[in-house]
Amino acid sequence: SGETQKEFIMALERTLSIIKPDATKRNLTGKINAKFEDAGLRIVAQKRIQLTLAQAGQFYAEHKERPFFGELTEFMVSEPVVVQVLEGEGAILKNREVMGATNPANADEGTIRKEFALSVGENSVHGSDSPEAAAREISFFFSGLELVG
Ligand code: UDP
Repeated sequence: SGETQKEFIMALERTLSIIKPDATKRNLTGKINAKFEDAGLRIVAQKRIQLTLAQAGQFYAEHKERPFFGELTEFMVSEPVVVQVLEGEGAILKNREVMGATNPANADEGTIRKEFALSVGENSVHGSDSPEAAAREISFFFSGLELVG
């Protein structure tokens, strides 16, 4: 039936990715981008920026009450970051799989965090965790003019 068929059709999605300061500092942008591309994710927009503390706090507003909020936002402004839009079938979930678990100690073999992350905080990458977050986070960093249709 049409209902059954639907489950097998994944939507072309876009997700927001950030290559974090621990990774940009160690010149890992190319190696991390290779992981995305090998997984079938296309980098459709990308720029290297220096976040301000206010911007980092706004981006991570949902974590404001968490004990690690101060450490996280200070870390995010400690070096430039690379913000990017990844596109592909089921890109949001696929990117989360390529990233691996938040804590690199729990990350699967072959994932970015298993290979490159230094700790639960300095874990090399950010990726949107839902379609709503992806829409919000993409528009946080990119204007419509920067996104090829
Ligand atoms: N974080 C941290 N300590 C923690 C949990 C998270 O420093 O105990 C940082 C870490 O950099 C993580 C980010 O806060 O990537 C956001 O946390 P979240 O739980 O949303 O993890 P993610 O979606 O990045 O895997």
